[in-house]
Amino acid sequence: MLHTIAGFDRIGEENAFAVLARANALAASGRDVINLGIGQPDFRTPEHIVEAAIKALRDGHHGYTPATGILALREAVAEDVHKKYGVTISPDLVAIMPGGKVTMFAAILMFGEPGVEILYPDPGFPIYRSMIEFTGAKPVPIPIHEAYGFGFSAEETLSLITPRTRLIIVNSPANPTGGVTPKAEIDKLVAGLAEWPDVAIMSDEIYAAMTYDGLEHASFLSYPEIRDRLILLDGWSKTYAMTGWRLGWSLWPDAIFDKVRKLAVNGWSCVNAPTQYAGIAALTGPQDAVRAMVAAFDTRRKVVVELLNALPGVSAAVPKGAFYTFPNVSKTGWKAKPLASALLEETGVATIGGPDFGIYGEGYIRVSYANSEENIRKALARVGEFLSDPANAR
Ligand code: PLP
Repeated sequence: MLHTIAGFDRIGEENAFAVLARANALAASGRDVINLGIGQPDFRTPEHIVEAAIKALRDGHHGYTPATGILALREAVAEDVHKKYGVTISPDLVAIMPGGKVTMFAAILMFGEPGVEILYPDPGFPIYRSMIEFTGAKPVPIPIHEAYGFGFSAEETLSLITPRTRLIIVNSPANPTGGVTPKAEIDKLVAGLAEWPDVAIMSDEIYAAMTYDGLEHASFLSYPEIRDRLILLDGWSKTYAMTGWRLGWSLWPDAIFDKVRKLAVNGWSCVNAPTQYAGIAALTGPQDAVRAMVAAFDTRRKVVVELLNALPGVSAAVPKGAFYTFPNVSKTGWKAKPLASALLEETGVATIGGPDFGIYGEGYIRVSYANSEENIRKALARVGEFLSDPANAR
């Protein structure tokens, strides 16, 4: 009998990967599957970024780098932050990570233990809760409401803080809802946090580049008063269509940066060198591919919302960010997960049931528009047929 620690009996996963596997299996068996469950851009990494990685390999960048990343990349991150938000950050507090996810892994490991509480958005990225449970800390969901455009409420978040709270996780623009929290609400949260000076904040801003309707991304970096307890999570995966490269960055408080460095030394040594050179090219090179991708998402966003709202029993709020919609399906009579499953099995359209993102996700499904407009139209036509068929009434 092998005795692993109890945390591994509590650790969860992302059902999106299971749906992807089932969708691929159906496709392999000859079914015409359209994947609207996907959480990654359907675009290629821009060519100049790919070339930079190839050049780095040809130039002999084959060895270890410093654990928290090469200086030129950390400087490029700091410059990019300054350009975008007018905020100065030190490259010495930037950690280059093997993906955005590893920042949440590190932060939750650093703050979670039995007896403490960690607040996280629900519905939200499933790994937050999974990792909180792994550490033995108590997961405290911050309910995310459709009525607030799927942004978080500062008042509700502040009301959940107790003397046992160690870390608050926030995410805007958000997965799975596409919700964006208005700046005024973030102002309120930050003001309220003055009462809780020992609570750390992890702001997951991996979708920062994807906001619509002229909305500017409101970053937690704009609040110097919390900089000494802010962990800012960002990365290249979504912005530059680089999910498979495994490249992210985070900014850490001075007081704990060395802990991240040591975790990297113990865990992954460094992010692979050519990928880091690709990261420099991404940040310092032309941004037209990013703008084109976001413009394409914006066009599809309007199409998907219009088509979803035309489906019987379905209503979809207009998402202000990321590339997800989170339609309310409660009036179809179906529970969300059985509906998502039936849609995949019966119509070949993959979506994710809201409860895979937390208990407050019941009544919703996640529909990603990281797929072509043609596929979105075809998929939602099939969903319409399915929902209109009296045999499928619930
Ligand atoms: N944070 C959120 C909210 C996400 O949706 C994702 C990926 O889906 C990540 C972080 C992880 O990004 P990465 O692929 O860079 O690890």
